[in-house]
Amino acid sequence: MTIGRFGLRRRDYDFPPFRPPSEANSLLLRVTRGCPWNRCSFCSMYKGMKFERRDLDEVLEDISMAREYYSDQVRTVFIGDSNSLVLKADDLVKILNRLYSSFPHVERVTSYARAKTIAKKPIEDLRKIYEAGLNRLHVGLETGDRELLKEIDKGATPEEMVEAGNKAKEAGFEYSLYVLLGIGGQEKWEQHARGTADVLNQIDPHFIRVRTFIPQPNSVLYEAMEEGRFHPSSPETILKETRLLLKELEVTSQFLSDHISNLVPLHGKLPEEKEAMIRLMDEVLKGYQDDESLREEMEARRHLTNL
Ligand code: SF4
Repeated sequence: MTIGRFGLRRRDYDFPPFRPPSEANSLLLRVTRGCPWNRCSFCSMYKGMKFERRDLDEVLEDISMAREYYSDQVRTVFIGDSNSLVLKADDLVKILNRLYSSFPHVERVTSYARAKTIAKKPIEDLRKIYEAGLNRLHVGLETGDRELLKEIDKGATPEEMVEAGNKAKEAGFEYSLYVLLGIGGQEKWEQHARGTADVLNQIDPHFIRVRTFIPQPNSVLYEAMEEGRFHPSSPETILKETRLLLKELEVTSQFLSDHISNLVPLHGKLPEEKEAMIRLMDEVLKGYQDDESLREEMEARRHLTNL
């Protein structure tokens, strides 16, 4: 069952404009609008949108409307926009209670969250939210390298990333971290891969999701690219970076490459499938060097992210 933006009239129901690929079939529920940080240099998602918390009664009304429309068919729910944990724990608990009483067959409720917000939130609040039924947090790590985190203005240090991850796991959440392949550009791919593996190894998240960075118009890094100050990674660099990241990982996570922009469809459980994934990367790298048509295909693929 796909519950998209067209099933309900827009003026009646407020949809989050973005959701993780894994939430394609979920009911989308908006509890905030925009991003309270809105400074990451690679991100154009909520530019021009003023951040606001939605009125609690309006959110509860949206749940009632969705219930009327979808009856009790909803199995998974995604809560947007970019950082729902900025809400007070008690408000989120009310929203979650209404969701579960309206949709008794719900099996999973997930949300985006910022690491810094998790790191600052009392563990008791995180536990309360988890126990009310928010099961999984999708968090942008992007990179674990200190210099790059600063350069992209992510607003969190490697230590804060680690603190947030461990705290969220301690509270009970499934933790899903996003890594942005290519965010170090052509020059800093190695430190990006090593620093990212280092942070991931200290968290051991349930999911590591990679996507490939292509500068988007209306972002600081796009401007830097246009002015020649940022040199996007070549496909070969991205492949080498991915291989190094895999090699350095000492985790028990699911490794997923579930975005259309990615060059290689890598999926596997670590550490069991680590060697097989590294072998696949070696084969693809060899193919890339030997086969012109593969090089062309990969170059074209990198632009699919604009779709
Ligand atoms: S990447 Fe996330 S935290 Fe950063 S500006 Fe975009 S939405 Fe906000």
